[in-house]
Amino acid sequence: MNVIDSRPYELLIGERWRAGAQSRTFDTLNPATGRVLAQVYEATEADVDAAVLAAHEAYQAHWRKTTPAERGRLLRRLAALFERDREKIAWIETLNVGKPITHSLDSLKAMPSSLEYFAGIIPAVRGETIPVGNHNVLNFTIREPLGVCALIMPWNYPMTLTVNKLGPALAAGNTVILKPSEVTPLSTMVLARLFEEAGFPPGVVNVVNGPGSTVGERLVTHPLVSRVSFTGGTVTGSRIVASTAADVKRVTLELGGKSPLIVFEDAPLEQAVAVAAGDLIKNSGQVCIACTRLLVQESVKREFLDRVQERLDAIRIGSPEDPATEMGPLVSAAQKQRVEKYIRIASEEGARPVQYGSLSGAAETGFFVKPTLLMDSQARMQSAQDEIFGPVQSVISFRDEDEALRIANDSRYGLAAVLFTRDGGRALRMARGIQSGSVAINTGVRTSFDAPFGGYKQSGIGKERGLEAIYENTQLKNVKYDMSV
Ligand code: NAD
Repeated sequence: MNVIDSRPYELLIGERWRAGAQSRTFDTLNPATGRVLAQVYEATEADVDAAVLAAHEAYQAHWRKTTPAERGRLLRRLAALFERDREKIAWIETLNVGKPITHSLDSLKAMPSSLEYFAGIIPAVRGETIPVGNHNVLNFTIREPLGVCALIMPWNYPMTLTVNKLGPALAAGNTVILKPSEVTPLSTMVLARLFEEAGFPPGVVNVVNGPGSTVGERLVTHPLVSRVSFTGGTVTGSRIVASTAADVKRVTLELGGKSPLIVFEDAPLEQAVAVAAGDLIKNSGQVCIACTRLLVQESVKREFLDRVQERLDAIRIGSPEDPATEMGPLVSAAQKQRVEKYIRIASEEGARPVQYGSLSGAAETGFFVKPTLLMDSQARMQSAQDEIFGPVQSVISFRDEDEALRIANDSRYGLAAVLFTRDGGRALRMARGIQSGSVAINTGVRTSFDAPFGGYKQSGIGKERGLEAIYENTQLKNVKYDMSV
């Protein structure tokens, strides 16, 4: 299937696809080969301003006045078009992100349902009547959209993150500007083409491409942007908070993680092994909720690790285009260097890196790193504290429940946690004690569009997905009406 355009991908601003004010392009690569995949036009500050203005005008002129039924209909049409093009979009993600094709197809399966869910949830965008004690006074609330929202995405799950931000933003009555990662912009460009076909009015959805330091910064500081929904690294998130502080903008941040997977001696080991090994290899470990700290009770450590290693030894690393491949490359040369640097740091601080699987054929050319366990890690090591964002897990042992909880919470992040135990009381004590936005018991964390998701501590601010996403995309007005006058 030929899914990549030979001409540079244009920006979508208002009703026009355009090259950008300076017609400057940048390359985007195929990480499995390191070769250029396509060219993309880079937005200038003037292009960002034009996109914001188009979104603002579309909001003022018509989008904020649309009925829930109209917005729902458009989102359902978009869902149907996404389903039609799902395989094509999955191939683009495979070529641009390096995800194995089976994983790309799987991760996009729920996207039409996500759009339908947010179309269906629109009637929940409503206020309430408040009994204030004076029978002559009608006191009620109205939930209103915010206006223009900037949606900024990272490179690891370009499409699922975009769709799960877009659905609630549009459902709530906002207009949007999408800013994909400059590393992986292609799938978003194909999604953007579907809006016109679905019948969305021009300006409701706009797309600008380019570096965060110019395009992203201009977008988040533009006075007509009222909300920023950002997914990416914690350092960037913190910078966005600073950049938007002067205008007191609404900001939702989905940031980094260093999630623990805790294996107690009474754990169902087979399931625990599958989740531990799965998190290491899925999207080459470039998953914000991946469990990258394996906390194992000393009494089962040997058996658990033997089984994890057996699974990792059999891993099929290779071309993401091969349906048999389980693990592909990292997204870029820079990410590969970062991961290798952390493996060296771990070694210097006394952990023992062990690598699994073999790289052969195509795997030798791209940005590949073998799955790596950092044996004998300690909780306070830098390699066990920093987010590495690659196929690397620190293995840390613990003696009892108290120690497991202490180590699990010994992190500046709080995105997700997984625990395996057959003791129900312990499961609930741990679930309450762990400082993170998501906890999974006897299964892996798998986010879904209909359940709220967001981090504690430095993993973020606010929630996306589920009904919470509607609240995040609206503001609440209180109206008091004295009917006796
Ligand atoms: P990044 O922070 O480098 O970039 C993310 C996006 O922000 C990109 O589009 C980039 O261009 C833009 N950006 C950069 N500087 C900006 C600025 N000053 N103003 C506005 N925008 C700016 O992140 P990344 O390397 O693309 O992605 C990896 C990170 O994303 C990891 O830390 C990972 O944990 C995180 N992530 C979090 C979640 C979550 O839901 N919590 C999900 C996926 C990824």
